[in-house]
Amino acid sequence: MELVFATHNQNKVKEVQLLIPANIKILSLTDIGCHEEIPETATTLEGNAKIKADFVTKNYGYNCFADDTGLLVDSLNGAPGVFSARYAGEQKNSNDNIDKLLKELENKKNRNAAFTTCIALNINSNQIIFNGTATGEITKDRQGIEGFGYDPIFKPTGYSKTFAELPIEVKNKISHRGKAIQQLISYLTK
Ligand code: IMP
Repeated sequence: MELVFATHNQNKVKEVQLLIPANIKILSLTDIGCHEEIPETATTLEGNAKIKADFVTKNYGYNCFADDTGLLVDSLNGAPGVFSARYAGEQKNSNDNIDKLLKELENKKNRNAAFTTCIALNINSNQIIFNGTATGEITKDRQGIEGFGYDPIFKPTGYSKTFAELPIEVKNKISHRGKAIQQLISYLTK
């Protein structure tokens, strides 16, 4: 089976490819000749995941899934949430986003946070939604060089290392996206 993963983020493709069984062939947006940025104009993670999956199915005719992820910080009332990618501005720069978040949390005692991923799967004219969450806390400074996005400052619950210090296989087992992808795989292989 061929399935498009509607992302330009090679880190995400790598994470997901490690989890998906070999009989499901993952195609990236580049693989299908889609080089444009799909607008994420919804106000919820589910809304954005649906927009991206629907864009690919409508314009390219493929079965497809798309994810949208938010980092929800308790002491910031759930911010940056759905705005995580452009927290520090439209340039969508992860370093800038981390700098801004660390500054916002400078004097906060409660550093609890959670990543949530919503996946929308479009398959044979059906749409199915999967969600995954990983709880943890925001560190005081960057630790580690693996992964992407907010990984260097997110320490998952029960671990003394950040996502950026953990091997990709470990992150995949406990992460928001890993959990949502496991549900997608169960659905596809049932
Ligand atoms: P999106 O799902 O690509 O829109 O991600 C929203 C924001 O969350 C972006 O700034 C990403 O870099 C960040 N993000 C998404 N997934 C992860 C992750 O697994 N670890 C760290 N940051 C992430």
